[in-house]
Amino acid sequence: MKVTEHLKNAKKTLFTIEILPPVKGKSIQSIYDAIDPLMEFKPAFIDVTYHREEYVYKKRERGLLEKVAYRKRPSTISICAAIMNKYKIDAVPHLICGGFSKEDTENALIDLNFLGIENVLALRGDGDKVTGSFIPEPNGHRYGDELVQQIVCMNNGVYLDDELVDAHPSSFCIGVAGYPEKHFEAPNMKTDLKFLKAKVDKGAHYIVTQMFFDNKKFFDFEKACREMGINVPIIPGLKPLTTLKQLTTLPKIFHIDIPEELSDEVLKCKNNEAVRQVGTEWMIQQCKELIARKVPCLHFYTMSSSEPTRQIAEALF
Ligand code: FAD
Repeated sequence: MKVTEHLKNAKKTLFTIEILPPVKGKSIQSIYDAIDPLMEFKPAFIDVTYHREEYVYKKRERGLLEKVAYRKRPSTISICAAIMNKYKIDAVPHLICGGFSKEDTENALIDLNFLGIENVLALRGDGDKVTGSFIPEPNGHRYGDELVQQIVCMNNGVYLDDELVDAHPSSFCIGVAGYPEKHFEAPNMKTDLKFLKAKVDKGAHYIVTQMFFDNKKFFDFEKACREMGINVPIIPGLKPLTTLKQLTTLPKIFHIDIPEELSDEVLKCKNNEAVRQVGTEWMIQQCKELIARKVPCLHFYTMSSSEPTRQIAEALF
């Protein structure tokens, strides 16, 4: 079933989760171990992130450096298929522009279609780890809206090969990312929203947000979206703070703020167990307010560690 159908049929705020493909060497059981403890809360759908290959430079003879790919994770598509097969729950694969030509994208979409996967979260992907800049593949997409456009074309039976006649139209429900605290590359919020609207105007059916720890940021973002004429469902993305280190790593990686009240409480903690309790309680209060404001769904970035999300879900669902 499509994400939008889940949202439409829901009688109350839904619970959904996002997991990461494990690093190379782990088995599919590591995915099940991350999902099993959350099954009692009946996730409506499960997102699976996509990760580009990472590279290291290895020293070779005569001072030469060889660029070697490492940490390629198992395929997002195969994990989605395994989840749907085992749990009979809809899986939402993330598909990115980075590292994909349009042909690669089309092939991935064809595979998803053949597997009966009806949802996809369309993203640009992050820039290069060293330079920070995003460089599209030759004949790839530069921005998320172009990827949305390609998926919409396939939904209309238009493939890259224009000699194909009577090609099967896919029927993907398309999600895109939104940033309550602005995407870090955007010059200002208004411009970022303009590009978000472009993704929706080109055919995206719903938005999932970056994590945030201050609900006001989400409510302001939602209001600004509506004022801009963005009328699709907006799903809040949430992640509880679990370690002291995350006080600096989350803002650095995700370009988000941690409210002073939360950071003050975390800094008083004697160990990470205490930090987790503070983070969990904060997230429960955040979620209660979001539910009271009738958000369609609470989407948890579990980072494949289910216990904090389980504790929060237990208090809410
Ligand atoms: P875009 O919508 O393309 O926007 C990127 C930047 O370009 C923004 O600053 C925007 O304002 C600007 N922009 C957009 N269109 C244009 C245009 N036409 N002209 C000029 N500027 C433009 N990354 C992964 O690698 N794998 C994942 O699985 C993954 N999952 C994610 C899930 C969620 C819910 C979120 C919020 C993020 C996820 N990311 C993931 C991270 C994401 O790939 C990065 O945040 C990336 O930097 C931006 O992706 P986007 O799709 O929002 O990009």
